[in-house]
Amino acid sequence: MTGERTFQKFKRLIPKKAFLLWLDSLKKDYKLIGPTKTGRHAVFKEVDSSKELFMEYETTMLSPGKLFLYKPNEELFRFAMNGKITIDEIAPIAEKQIITGVHPCDVNAILYLDRTFLRTFKDPHYEARRKNTLIISLNCARVSENCFCSSVGAGPFLHAAGGYDMLLTNFESEYLVEIKSREAEELFGLEGRGAGQDEMRFKAEKEKSMHGKFKKNINVSGLDNIFAENMEHHIWQQTAEEKCLSCANCVMVCPTCFCYDLRDEMSMDLKTVTRYRCFDACQDMKFAEVHGGNFRQRRAARLRQFVTHKLGQTNQYGVLGTVGCGRCITWCPTGIDLTEITKEIQKFKVKS
Ligand code: SF4
Ligand code: SF4
Repeated sequence: MTGERTFQKFKRLIPKKAFLLWLDSLKKDYKLIGPTKTGRHAVFKEVDSSKELFMEYETTMLSPGKLFLYKPNEELFRFAMNGKITIDEIAPIAEKQIITGVHPCDVNAILYLDRTFLRTFKDPHYEARRKNTLIISLNCARVSENCFCSSVGAGPFLHAAGGYDMLLTNFESEYLVEIKSREAEELFGLEGRGAGQDEMRFKAEKEKSMHGKFKKNINVSGLDNIFAENMEHHIWQQTAEEKCLSCANCVMVCPTCFCYDLRDEMSMDLKTVTRYRCFDACQDMKFAEVHGGNFRQRRAARLRQFVTHKLGQTNQYGVLGTVGCGRCITWCPTGIDLTEITKEIQKFKVKS
């Protein structure tokens, strides 16, 4: 569903077992996707049964939004040259799917992708998937080492007005289930117990205690200006020279990065060409290559672009470009941390 169909109806306490059985009952009409345990890590993938779900996960390397809504590779059209040119557009795939166990940061990341792909130009592939996807969010019960969502207002509990279908909060052997869309209301047949003021107070206490658990915090006030005034701060050059490998891991795991490139692939007989859209990365050396040069040839310029797009360009969509999931920190092979870079610049600002 998309934000336009926002709906709120009821709150109920449902035994977890019953909730998972309800998910299984939807398998006949929907593809079921959720967090699973793979080795030491949690991974979002399609499951055959809710028994495979690992709802107690802390974080994943890849976000559900960039696996199942905005895909790494999208075939757009093919054209053939057999005397005349013919073009076959690839129709958007509209398979119905449920993504469950989506943490608040990742729901906010999907809302960020919506700003890119469902605004003036609506990307037909993204739009078709979004319309056919039911999102069940799960408020966090654990904070992982690099999470800083509480500093950017994207978690650990979800407060977005719409754009998702259901919200779960862990209440020991039950879930507090909050219905957030008409579609979810129509699908949800479980009665459970009604949740009143006491339960909502208990939920608020849980949220408060979660906020106290964050090891990583950042002050985001006035960052647009602070970054704009410190484009030549030594931290960019120093971090880039000493540590950045331009590997682009940070961009690939970022749930809000949306840049893409278009690639053509020609058949062996040179008669047909397939055009793909695929993820691109501002940290990649060739990203800013244009006719006549490369306007971000220096590693420092590319690192600065990534960090300022996350924390210092709210003029683009009116919100920060980060949801505080900390993935770019966790998966950077040399431990570059955008919150530490920001603090260093903020120190300089105070001194100057
Ligand atoms: S960043 Fe916040 S919402 Fe995301 S996993 Fe960590 S605690 Fe949960
Ligand atoms: S993951 Fe780290 S090393 Fe790689 S491009 Fe990003 S900041 Fe540089």
